[in-house]
Amino acid sequence: MRNTCAKIPLSCYFPRRRTAFNITSALQHHDFDGLNEPGKSFSLNAKVLILNQSYEPISICTTKKALLLLLLMKADIVEERSNASIRSVRGRYPFPSVIRLSAYLRVPFKKIELSRKNILRRDGMRCNYCGTTHSPLTVDHIIPRSRGGNDTWENLTTACVKCNNRKGNRTPDEANMRLQTPPKKPHHVLFLKHYLGKVDEAWRPYLFMD
Ligand SMILES: [Zn+2]
Repeated sequence: MRNTCAKIPLSCYFPRRRTAFNITSALQHHDFDGLNEPGKSFSLNAKVLILNQSYEPISICTTKKALLLLLLMKADIVEERSNASIRSVRGRYPFPSVIRLSAYLRVPFKKIELSRKNILRRDGMRCNYCGTTHSPLTVDHIIPRSRGGNDTWENLTTACVKCNNRKGNRTPDEANMRLQTPPKKPHHVLFLKHYLGKVDEAWRPYLFMD
């Protein structure tokens, strides 16, 4: 999948420095040794959502990078993972899930291309009518094109072949079919190259998915 949003290099957070920090050595300096909660699968590579100072989501980073931003007071924790913490010789730290930058960062984002591939990706590769993921998927015009429906994020949705055929040239109301999720323009964070597809529950309010 093409990256529609440039990964933000660490040096962007420290514009006055000529070289980026070495995360590993900085963390070693603080003697982090990972998690202290048995049975938890979180690691220092677990994903953390980065919010701008304005609370707009701007990127996803590893826990390692988030810890560095927190240690350097470049960010604050907004949401932490319950029942998990990070141990260092200096004490225990909450395990971040969402952090917020202390200063506003100007981030130019590329426009997400409206394409079949991106509609399917936005909808999690599942039919927005019946929810199946096991059938060949198509893109459905909610208001059919022949009746004035446009190619927009709001009027295009993922439909399995069966639902698409059943709906035919009708609106969902006419076909007595219900959309499981009203289609919206996706947030660029969901299209990050290193985003793994599963949305952390704690992230939902920030990604405007509710
Ligand atoms: Zn279906």
